[in-house]
Amino acid sequence: MAESSVLSGRKFAKEVRRNLAEEINRIGGRPPGLAVVIVGDDPASRVYVSMKEKACGKAGIDSVVVRLDGSVSQQKLLLQIDSLNQDTSVDGILCQLPLPGHISADTVASAILPEKDVDGFHPENVGRLWRGEDGLFPCTPVGIIALMKHSNIDIDGADAVIVGRSNIVGKPLAALLLRENATVSLAHSHTSDLEGLCRKADILVAAVGRPRFIKREFIKPGATVIDVGISRTDEGLVGDVDFDNVAPICGAITPVPGGVGPLTIAFLLSNTVKAWKRNN
Ligand code: NDP
Repeated sequence: MAESSVLSGRKFAKEVRRNLAEEINRIGGRPPGLAVVIVGDDPASRVYVSMKEKACGKAGIDSVVVRLDGSVSQQKLLLQIDSLNQDTSVDGILCQLPLPGHISADTVASAILPEKDVDGFHPENVGRLWRGEDGLFPCTPVGIIALMKHSNIDIDGADAVIVGRSNIVGKPLAALLLRENATVSLAHSHTSDLEGLCRKADILVAAVGRPRFIKREFIKPGATVIDVGISRTDEGLVGDVDFDNVAPICGAITPVPGGVGPLTIAFLLSNTVKAWKRNN
């Protein structure tokens, strides 16, 4: 690979979505159905949900958005999820995060049927992921692996370091990289000598949420650098990686915006189609 390739998640996501649309069209019959539950009126969540709706429409997936007031009780939300679980026209269900403080995101994740859990947060899917079984797995990490494979990045035998251990990105990505035979380290805010650990990485993933936290000194020359972070700043969207100084020495890098971000929705659609094909 040429020095400092910029991995365009945007371009790849478009290709994935186009392929899904073709596949849905080819298979025919009842279209895939995705239900998105949104509680309250968080402005960022509203934007994400409308992006998901639009992407579904373009791919030929029927989407339904269930909007609930921010004061809705957890019990009422669980009843709503139960009715979506029973609905045979719905293949995938997700509940947009964050949820109001009086609702437990873990309880909600466990209430969605594992076979409709397109976010991959249900404990059964988490267990399947770590056991190396098939299931529905979190969209952002699945997208990152697919982008790396599509870009011919060597994962087998690579030393991979992930900074950030969330249930949404860091932990599931560790499991997926392990499946691909990488040797994985999961770093966090208590990691001693983070810089030294990162400098050993052939694949470095930043999922911290701190603008330009990963500096040039953290990088092994030639490494693949995947920037998951998205922070809204006065300069616009900024990633976790100091792109301008890191890009010249790494082998490949994802930009922000246009890198990992677009993969999430593309692989949400992919999970929905996977669930639909199983139901069909
Ligand atoms: P969380 O906020 O849940 O977790 C952040 C992680 O970073 C934690 O594990 C934390 O460690 C670690 N961390 C914080 N400070 C340091 C430090 N100084 N040194 C080392 N580790 C540190 O992260 P998310 O995974 O939810 O999100 C991370 C970023 O990715 C955010 O910017 C988010 O917006 C973005 N994101 C982007 C997505 C996309 O579609 N592109 C999807 C999901 C997230 P500890 O556990 O010890 O607290």
